[in-house]
Amino acid sequence: MKKTFTTLALSLSLLIPISSFAKNNVVVVATGGTIAGAGASSTNSATYTAAKVPVDDLLNAVPQIQNLANVTGVQALQIASESITDKELLSIARQVNDLVKKPSVNGVVITHGTDTVEETAFFLSLVIKTDKPIVLVASMRPPSALSADGPLNLYSAVALAASDSAKGKGVMILMNDGIFAARDVTKSINIHTNAFTSQWGALGTLVEGKPYWFRNVAKRFNNASEFNIENIKGDALPLVQIVYGSTNMLPDAYLAYQKAGAKAIIHAGTGNGSVAKYIVPTLNQLQADGVQIIRSSRVPHGFVLRNAEQPDDKYGWVVAHDLNPQKAKILAALALTKTKDAKEIQRMFWEY
Ligand code: GLU
Repeated sequence: MKKTFTTLALSLSLLIPISSFAKNNVVVVATGGTIAGAGASSTNSATYTAAKVPVDDLLNAVPQIQNLANVTGVQALQIASESITDKELLSIARQVNDLVKKPSVNGVVITHGTDTVEETAFFLSLVIKTDKPIVLVASMRPPSALSADGPLNLYSAVALAASDSAKGKGVMILMNDGIFAARDVTKSINIHTNAFTSQWGALGTLVEGKPYWFRNVAKRFNNASEFNIENIKGDALPLVQIVYGSTNMLPDAYLAYQKAGAKAIIHAGTGNGSVAKYIVPTLNQLQADGVQIIRSSRVPHGFVLRNAEQPDDKYGWVVAHDLNPQKAKILAALALTKTKDAKEIQRMFWEY
């Protein structure tokens, strides 16, 4: 009898490929960008139209991903990422949130344009309650170009999203073999395939379908975040805009944004978020009118120190800590969904 069972089990295991049971389920959510772009010829690596190729074609171009996971695709958007507004950002977040809540989904990959992938990644890391891997992936060359980087990036992103070791690591960007944390990754070169860096280093490296880890994020994200996409209604976040610091500034941009309804202005200041002395009265007037003033920096590395360069305590301003201006804009908009208190907003900037 025992022998019959063993023989039966053995014969069944030969009939049903065990690998299809063992593989995780990964959904690829396509939003556009260069990774779905198309150029006129194979030598057009930088001149092309973004957001052309549909998700099924992207997946079929890399059949090897089906060895890593059971992969399905969803076409969420087809857009160049510089044209993303709150409406698209919230729509992506809601679609991904619905996916990660399904017990049958183990991980999500989002294909995206490189220009604003860091903003989308950071937003998702703040508003989605999950420990499942969410991996954003992009490319610098369209699929039609020689040495297109999209196929390998997509392969690696699926491997990462399917990996049990990526659970609890938060939202990541996979580019050029690097695994980056959403909060501190940034596009730092706009013409080469090694376009993304983090001043604190990558979380790890992905080689031949396997992640190797080197650090964790020390700040709050995903399950530890106080923000939740399910509590955000409508298609728009509180309005936040960025003003870039330089010599010979005019106050007009700050005033125009106030008039347009901005609830916070990110001052992308020189150096340590410094503010020209002839601009300080304008910012103090805005602050008195209820517009939050948040000092970030146009310098890509380092962080803005509170009460250095400017007396933030005295003025009631906020510092963005190490968040770059575009990331500060995302956190400020979310913070304003909860509070108008500058001290509370500052707490959030220390914690995320
Ligand atoms: N500007 C386009 C975008 O961000 C293409 C850039 C890219 O994906 O590399 O979608």
